[in-house]
Amino acid sequence: MNINIVKPFMPGLDEIADDFAKCLSSGLVTNNSPHVRMFEDKLQEFYGCPIKPSLNCNGELALYHLIQAWKHKMSVGPHESFEVLVPSFTFSGTINAVVTNNLKPVFCDVDETMVLDIEKALVDSPDVRMILPVGAYGNIVNLERLQQISREKKLAVVLDNAPAFGTKFKGRHSWEYGFSEMISFHATKIFNSMEGGCNIVNDPEIDELLRRLRDFGQYEKVRGDVDVPGLNSKMTEVCALVGLRNLAKADFIIQSRTKNAARYVEFFGGLESQGLLRTMKVLPEVDCPYLYFPIILNEEATEFVNYMQGKGVAVRRYYTANHSLKFYSDRYREQDLSFTNAIKDNLVSLPLHTVMSDEELDYLFSTVRGWFEQR
Ligand SMILES: *Cc1c(COP(=O)(O)O)cnc(C)c1O
Repeated sequence: MNINIVKPFMPGLDEIADDFAKCLSSGLVTNNSPHVRMFEDKLQEFYGCPIKPSLNCNGELALYHLIQAWKHKMSVGPHESFEVLVPSFTFSGTINAVVTNNLKPVFCDVDETMVLDIEKALVDSPDVRMILPVGAYGNIVNLERLQQISREKKLAVVLDNAPAFGTKFKGRHSWEYGFSEMISFHATKIFNSMEGGCNIVNDPEIDELLRRLRDFGQYEKVRGDVDVPGLNSKMTEVCALVGLRNLAKADFIIQSRTKNAARYVEFFGGLESQGLLRTMKVLPEVDCPYLYFPIILNEEATEFVNYMQGKGVAVRRYYTANHSLKFYSDRYREQDLSFTNAIKDNLVSLPLHTVMSDEELDYLFSTVRGWFEQR
């Protein structure tokens, strides 16, 4: 049996064909076009947020613009800089969005929840003005503590919640705690529009900036005058159509993942109690829909990865410690990274699809059990 690393949840062609044909014949295929606006309306209903989420062509550019908008609001010019507390343990896209905004990452540690250890991350310089936690694997930091810490230390907060569609803290979304967040709708994520991403914010000024920044920064379209340097980060109709159809099934997607994740937690919890591996901790306040299922082995992961791939189960060494990537190593400040360094080579992400048969789950679990038995 083969189990792929992801299995994107997609509508059938028949579900989008008629509407897409209309887009093509009308020529309205992008530029804040009808289905993009409808997708934003439906996302607002789903999240219940007062400011309509703003869509982008992908999560990375949404994050880039979100940081850019905050920087602008803080009256920091494009050629000026400050430091940003970020977890080293994330996808390079997080750090790249900081650096391409001419800001400096300060690499901080994660804890056993695999997300930023906000108690340990220190404002150790007046240059530190922003904190950027990441919703790794759909897990998130304690948002109440983040509120307290960011107020006390006067830090701007941006959440890279790319992997955390539908995640809640005490039954509430991140925006309900006053934060700005980016969520990715990439095909590999929990909920997808093929490519895509959105920003959910609480500040009308940030929202207005985001809508201009995705359209080159134009505040008027006759001469195309710009008052901020934006890019072209607009979503197309075909992505909005796929997103709309999938969003109609979002509750199913989250319930189904939560149900599947419970089986992983039970199985891997058993191995953990035998001391064979460790699993990601999830705070009792957090509803985590799990993007992948990360495990931490007691040893370097190469042999396990090869074994699993050999048995047809695709696994990933994801996320990664960015402070040891080629571009980033020794280039920026690092705080104590002892947990990150201890786990970075032992961590493996296993596939966890929205729809998985009992046979697939049994095969995955028995393959893992087989690995430990042959040792
Ligand atoms: C996926 C991901 C991104 C990038 O999102 P895209 O939609 O693929 O551009 C950024 N940060 C994190 C943590 C991610 O997991």
